[in-house]
Amino acid sequence: TSSVRLGVFGNPVAHSLSPTIHSLFAELRDERILYERMLATPANFPKAVAQFFRDGGTGANVTLPFKEQAAQLANTLTERARVAGAVNTLMKVSSGFVVGDNTDGEGFVKDLSRKGFHVSGCSLVLLGSGGSARGVLSALLSLNPAKVYLVNRTLEKAQALKQLLVDLSVPGAENIQVVSNADSINEKVDAVVNATSSSLHNIDIPLPQNFADDAWGYDLMYSDNATHFLKQLERAGIKSRADGLGMLIEQAASSYQLWMGGERPDTTFVMSKIRV
Ligand code: NDP
Repeated sequence: TSSVRLGVFGNPVAHSLSPTIHSLFAELRDERILYERMLATPANFPKAVAQFFRDGGTGANVTLPFKEQAAQLANTLTERARVAGAVNTLMKVSSGFVVGDNTDGEGFVKDLSRKGFHVSGCSLVLLGSGGSARGVLSALLSLNPAKVYLVNRTLEKAQALKQLLVDLSVPGAENIQVVSNADSINEKVDAVVNATSSSLHNIDIPLPQNFADDAWGYDLMYSDNATHFLKQLERAGIKSRADGLGMLIEQAASSYQLWMGGERPDTTFVMSKIRV
């Protein structure tokens, strides 16, 4: 039997961990895949996607900066991709249509649950209103938090994101509190999630004033060492902290299952292989 052709579009894409993660899933399930890194530019991305599927590709991940462009060019979107306004998973279906899905929110929720980070009934702060914040926000709302503060330096983007979820009738969206600076939040908060690129730029980002004793913090960015944001949380006395590597592996498992069918791959083994 020949290998199933998969891959990831991004720019840059050279350091993507996705080929390693998916190859480990395939190894675990005794399946044959060929998962390639595919460098694209905004100008040639639509052609590159069309060519990939014409050449027999089965499915592809999409990462920075193409997630929103991928949502435009898919023939049809799943509900969660529409809500996120972004696609991280493309899949060719039997009709020849290319379906766009988004597994980032599911990956995030799975990783929170693995880590025992609670959301239900909690007061949460989400930093950022870019592409990844969109997917993560609706996933958080689905877990019934008591309160959500959406923080973005450019306030209009946070307001627009809230309005989008309200217009899509996402439960809980009406109660989102939009603010431009987290240090204006006086209430005691249970969790803070960083969906900005502050760690990428190695800069501090304002935090809420007041944390519960058992508060947790999560940075969507990941790296071999603690990210800048995780160091900031440590200084603020927050003991439960995690970076986005778990989310990356969980979103990959969801994509793998969409393409290959069967059970969701076991992520525990992959976690232990990737983070040594
Ligand atoms: P975007 O470029 O779409 O959004 C960037 C966000 O960061 C905006 O809200 C922007 O605010 C904010 N921001 C940037 N610089 C600053 C600053 N100096 N101070 C305050 N806010 C700032 O990026 P994405 O949403 O796609 O990605 C964000 C991060 O999430 C990246 O680091 C990426 O690596 C990570 N990520 C991880 C994933 C995983 O699987 N673990 C999946 C997806 C993303 P403004 O609107 O004001 O410009």
